[in-house]
Amino acid sequence: MQTFSFEPVDLPPGIPAFRREIREFLDRELSGYPAEKRANCWTSFDAGFSRKLGQRGWIGMVWPKKYGGHERSSIERYVLLEELLAAGAPVGAHWIADRQSGPALLKYGTEEQRQQYLPGMARGEIFCCIGMSEPNSGSDLASVRTRAERLPDGRWKINGQKIWTSQAHRSQLVIALVRTGGYDEKAKHVGLSQFLLELDTPGITVRPITDLVGDSHFNEVFFQDVVVGPERMLGAEGDGWKQVTSELSLERSGPERYMSSLVLYLELLRAVGPEPSEPVRQAIGRVAAELWTLRQMSLSVAGQLARGQDPALEAATVKDLGNSFEQALPPLVQAIADSGVRLEDDTALARTLGLLLQVSPSFSLRGGTREILRGIIARGLGLR
Ligand SMILES: Cc1cc2nc3c(=O)[nH]c(=O)nc-3n(C[C@H](O)[C@H](O)[C@H](O)COP(=O)(O)OP(=O)(O)OC[C@H]3O[C@@H](n4cnc5c(N)ncnc54)[C@H](O)[C@@H]3O)c2cc1C
Repeated sequence: MQTFSFEPVDLPPGIPAFRREIREFLDRELSGYPAEKRANCWTSFDAGFSRKLGQRGWIGMVWPKKYGGHERSSIERYVLLEELLAAGAPVGAHWIADRQSGPALLKYGTEEQRQQYLPGMARGEIFCCIGMSEPNSGSDLASVRTRAERLPDGRWKINGQKIWTSQAHRSQLVIALVRTGGYDEKAKHVGLSQFLLELDTPGITVRPITDLVGDSHFNEVFFQDVVVGPERMLGAEGDGWKQVTSELSLERSGPERYMSSLVLYLELLRAVGPEPSEPVRQAIGRVAAELWTLRQMSLSVAGQLARGQDPALEAATVKDLGNSFEQALPPLVQAIADSGVRLEDDTALARTLGLLLQVSPSFSLRGGTREILRGIIARGLGLR
């Protein structure tokens, strides 16, 4: 039976100075930026802001210099992400490229693919989206039906549909998981491959979906007789499942999985002031303790990834606990507000709470649902 491994990570000596540098930059760039826009900020798309981060060397920080990266450490990158999320910076444009698509190209891409796209991603100019889910394949991702058929001249013809594809309407690239072999109900993971596709390729149509709060951040993506050369395949034919699962460890392990509601907590602290009532003080303390524990666990996962390990079990655990934490915060703040703090109609606290009460149910769906993560954890622990 496997056990959890959450060894502590010591931050290297240069970190406080780096943190100060990031905070000074963010104070300048985000002054006057409203609290409700800062919440859930890693889905806020602002290409101009991403370009500024790119100019500072804060995208693709850990990638090799020859691909536009900066060869900084994973822990420095983790600290940057923490600061961006805590400040509520609009990082949604480049988030996916920095977190998983760039690393996927580094791991599986050809030299030509790396040279063509990584420097633009690191400059904050090329954005990428994740083409995994389909209308009948979400949790059961291995059952995807979008199909690439090899033509006699070696090119591929792709037909099918993706759904919930975040930022596809504003990105240049999608990495699509498609079936290149036959479909066998008993061995669904076999015969899958990934394609790196430019979204303006003829035959690709992107249709935005509007969410509960009127925002359009995810999409349907249709592939109708999309013909591409063999150079568009990412990695080896048939390796799609292995590649996608290693990408999902990166997707699930970051601090964004527990910090989406943090801005609300900070607004609450501001609203209750330095002398809150005893019950409010206790509630605030409990949140702080939980937050700190999650942070140590998440940092430990970052440390394991930096050492080249694949902490899939720990990443799933941090995501599950983190999602529960970020989902529990809005109702908790609402309860505190009802029992003393005045929630006036048009305060930053009220607007942020209103938004998060509506969008937070999705936090435990995106990136894999709670039930699926608990299945992974149970399997990892030898319980199923
Ligand atoms: C905001 C947001 C952004 C997203 N962005 C992207 C993106 O960019 N790219 C992308 O590819 N996808 C994206 N998704 C899709 C997301 O990954 C899926 O919604 C998720 O994996 C669930 O799949 P589904 O919606 O098909 O639900 P289903 O798989 O149909 O699940 C429905 C319910 O049944 C439960 N369930 C399903 N199977 C089991 C099981 N075996 N055991 C127990 N319970 C089970 C689930 O936990 C869930 O509660 C996004 C989703 C959201 C909400």
